[in-house]
Amino acid sequence: MPVPTYPSVPELTTIKPLPQSERVSVVVVGAGVVGLSSALWLQRAGHAVTMIDPEPPLPGNCYLNSASFGNACTVALGACIPMGTPGILGDVPGMLLRRSSPLSIFWGDLPRLLPWLVDLVRASTQREFHRIVGVLGMLMRLAEAGHNPLFEEARATHLKRADGCLYLYRSERSFARAQRDIDLRRREGVRMEMLDRKAVKEREPNLAPLYSNGLLFSDAYRIDDALRYAQALASLLQSKGGQFVHSIARAIESRDRGLTVLCQDGSAIEADRVVVCAGAWSRQLALTVGDKIRLDTERGYHVLFPRDGHLLSAPTCYPEHGFYMTPLGEGMRSAGTVELGGLGKPARRERTDVIEKMSRVLLPGLGEAGRTWLGFRPSMPDSLPVISRSPKDSRIAYAFGHGHIGLTLAGITGRLVCDLISGQTPAIDLHPLRADRF
Ligand SMILES: Cc1cc2nc3c(=O)[nH]c(=O)nc-3n(C[C@H](O)[C@H](O)[C@H](O)COP(=O)(O)OP(=O)(O)OC[C@H]3O[C@@H](n4cnc5c(N)ncnc54)[C@H](O)[C@@H]3O)c2cc1C
Repeated sequence: MPVPTYPSVPELTTIKPLPQSERVSVVVVGAGVVGLSSALWLQRAGHAVTMIDPEPPLPGNCYLNSASFGNACTVALGACIPMGTPGILGDVPGMLLRRSSPLSIFWGDLPRLLPWLVDLVRASTQREFHRIVGVLGMLMRLAEAGHNPLFEEARATHLKRADGCLYLYRSERSFARAQRDIDLRRREGVRMEMLDRKAVKEREPNLAPLYSNGLLFSDAYRIDDALRYAQALASLLQSKGGQFVHSIARAIESRDRGLTVLCQDGSAIEADRVVVCAGAWSRQLALTVGDKIRLDTERGYHVLFPRDGHLLSAPTCYPEHGFYMTPLGEGMRSAGTVELGGLGKPARRERTDVIEKMSRVLLPGLGEAGRTWLGFRPSMPDSLPVISRSPKDSRIAYAFGHGHIGLTLAGITGRLVCDLISGQTPAIDLHPLRADRF
């Protein structure tokens, strides 16, 4: 099947500054990588931007709460396969019962999670699955058009490491099971190279020989330091007049002549438009507008091996173990797995133990482990983000729910948010990403 065509990339990489009369004041809530990218695209169009976040990535702040801090740092341009795949109902119960599984749950949360899980299963039928792969494939093909101008303007291109990303399969059987997804990726124009055992060994001699086949995503790349990337975007925003308010937004009030964001510190910030990019925390804020959105979180962890960044040449993932090992300047970051259990509960040591133990099996040269981290992916049941106007008030836009691929899609999301706020027809059909689709 030919890859469908979408607006040519040059059309998306540039934006014409709007005439003065069409420029507005915009509050962007949340300075994760999605919020920062949105804010920068809005500035490019000429809008005046204020960001609200309790810990934006500015000098002196920790930024540890943002999923954008601790992810696997991979711009995963082949990641167009959703979480919900046909047959998921058969696989998940067994996975939940295994201690070393990449999937776990706080069982007490099951009743609260049921509606989200039911919608996940509904999104996993053959028909829905194929439709969702098509939407993700389209976003992936446009991802770099959204990223590149920001990398360049923020002078952050030196953080890119373009060595691809490697998937490994432990047996011929697991590789055969992956064929459906590989064919679909090919349909979506993802560039891949098949590697046999020998080629994998040549590329990554430090891995234990626990693989039968490799799949190299040639266009994927890693960002050597996710925090520094976010800091570069934040400092660019400031240098162009963007403001940061260090607070937590509690509610958005609609008035005839504008919007007010009420903050935890008692301040009230007025604007013509508001964009909610508060990651996994966005559902609560949307509720204050009257929008109920089926957003939850897939908790994920990382373990850093500070001395071992040299052991691999590119992010490496065994899909069956559910995490990436990403070589970074700060060390080897093993990041991933999924834990269902909401935003309030503390990190569980046994989950980082699973990652650490399996990392050592796959990469025996790993030394002492250092920092561990828990982060909150903002996840919709169909693995598609929300990029949408609020159904209740069209002056409010939503950009969250990017799940496992928020770093990858942040740039193009920002570009599309800019169209929504500027009152222009978005460059692509955003119907599949609307806020009220569940
Ligand atoms: C272990 C792990 C590995 C991952 N690996 C990858 C990867 O390799 N590639 C990839 O593309 N994606 C990856 N992801 C997913 C990616 O990290 C997320 O999708 C992405 O960071 C989401 O960005 P965001 O800006 O929407 O949310 P966040 O980064 O979570 O930012 C949300 C921000 O909103 C702020 N906030 C929250 N509530 C409020 C409020 N009420 N008022 C003001 N501010 C508020 C928070 O402080 C935070 O700064 C991974 C995620 C995890 C957990």
